[in-house]
Amino acid sequence: MWVQVLFVCGCTLFSWNLAENQGAFTQRHDDKGQCQYIFTVSSPEGSGSCPGVLMERDRLLSRLTLLEALVSRLVGDTNGQSNGERGLQEAYTQVTGERDQLQQDKERLTKQIQELQRRLSKTSLEVESLRLKPCQPHTGHRPNTGSVNSVSTNAYQEMRAEVTEVPASHLLPERNQTFNKGCGELVTVGEPISHKKAESITGKYGVWLQDPEPQGTLYSNKTVWRIDAVGKDIRQLFAYEDMNQFSRGFPMKVLMLPEPVESTGATVYRGSLYYQRRQSRTIIRYDLTSESLVNQQDLPNASFHGQHPYSWGGRTDIDLAVDEQGLWAIYSTHEAKGAIMISKLDPESLEVRQSWETSIRKNTVANAFMMCGRLYTVGSYTAPNTTINYMFDTATNVGKAIAIPFINKYRYNSMVDYNHALRKLFAWDNFNMVTYDIRLLERSGQTTS
Ligand code: CA
Repeated sequence: MWVQVLFVCGCTLFSWNLAENQGAFTQRHDDKGQCQYIFTVSSPEGSGSCPGVLMERDRLLSRLTLLEALVSRLVGDTNGQSNGERGLQEAYTQVTGERDQLQQDKERLTKQIQELQRRLSKTSLEVESLRLKPCQPHTGHRPNTGSVNSVSTNAYQEMRAEVTEVPASHLLPERNQTFNKGCGELVTVGEPISHKKAESITGKYGVWLQDPEPQGTLYSNKTVWRIDAVGKDIRQLFAYEDMNQFSRGFPMKVLMLPEPVESTGATVYRGSLYYQRRQSRTIIRYDLTSESLVNQQDLPNASFHGQHPYSWGGRTDIDLAVDEQGLWAIYSTHEAKGAIMISKLDPESLEVRQSWETSIRKNTVANAFMMCGRLYTVGSYTAPNTTINYMFDTATNVGKAIAIPFINKYRYNSMVDYNHALRKLFAWDNFNMVTYDIRLLERSGQTTS
C-alpha cells in the first residue's frame, strides 16, 4: 500500500512541475505515414543541460527517502507493538506459573501445619504426663560429700537412670489415671460420632443436648432435647426418651415454647431450657416439667441479631453454655468492639454474677463452649481439620492460643456444647448430630465446684 502511495505522490508532483514550464505539442508523420505527437519543453536557462529536471528529480528522491523513513518507522512501531504483546504474554505465563507454585506451597505448608499441630498435641500430653508423675524416691547411690564436681556428676548420672527407668505406661496418656477424673484442661478431642441426621431442611443447623444435672422425675439425664433452628418462628422443642429413640427418629414429646428461639445458643440445665428470645438480648428460662416460662432477663449490653455472631453467622450472637461451674453466656458488646465476653449467670434469676472480657474477636471463631470455667473456641466451622485455637481461664483472667485438633466431618458445624456429666462435646454439623469424646488433664489438688 505504501508503494502505491509513493507512486501516486511522485507522479502528481512531477506533472505539476512540468506544468509550470513552457511546453508545446507538435505532430508529424513518421516514415510509415503514421501520426506522431511530440511534446517539447524549453530549458529556462537556454543551455544544453536540464538542471531543473535534475533538481526536481533530486527533490523527489529526497521526498521518497523521507517517505521510506516514515514507512520504515511505522513498520518498526508495528513490530514493537507485537514484541510488547509477546512480552506481556510471557510475563503473564510466568506470573501464572508462580501463582500455581505458590498454591502448591500453600497446600504443602497447610499439611505440615496440621501435622505439627497433631504432634504438638501429642507432645503436650507426654510432657504433662511426665510433669504430673510424682518423683520416685531414689534408692541409688547417695551423692558423695566430696567436691562439687563429683556431686554434680553423680546427680546427673542418677537423673539419667531415673529417666531411663520411667515405665512406658507412664508415657501413654490412655493409661494415665489422672485423665477423665475431676476438672482440668482440655487436651484432646476425639473423632465425631454420628447419632442422627435431620430429616428436612429445617435441620441444617440446630441444637441438641442432654441435661447434665436433671431435676424432677419426668425427665432424666438420658432424655435427649432437640431444636431445629432453621426458620423465623422456632418454637418446637423435641424430647426423646434416650439416645436409642433419638437415633431411631421418633420423639416422645414436642413442647411448644412460649417465645421463639434465636439461633443455636440454647442449653438445658437443671430441668430448664435456657435460650435467647428471637431478635432480642433477652434470656429466657423455660421449665421443662411445668412447660412454662419461669424467668426472663436481658443480658446487659449484649449484641444480638447479627451484630456480633460467630464466623458462620446465623444470628449466633448469644451462646449459652453449661459446665461443671454452672451457667454461662458467651457473647459480645458494642463496648468490647466484637471481642468475646463471658458472663457467669445465676441459673435462677438469670442475673450476671461476674463478667470477663477476652482478647479474641467473636466473628473470627466458629463456636465456643465452657469447660471447667474455661472458654474454648473452635477455629473453623467448615474446615474438616481445624483446631480448638484459644482458651481463656476465668480463674486467672488469662487467655492463650492453643492448637487442639478438631474435626468438622460434615463441614458446617453450627453448634458445639459441652456436657460435663458425659464428658462429651455435642455438635450439630450440617444436618448431622454428633458427639466428640474428650480428654481432660486433671491438675493435682484442683477440685470441681
Ligand atoms: Ca456453643
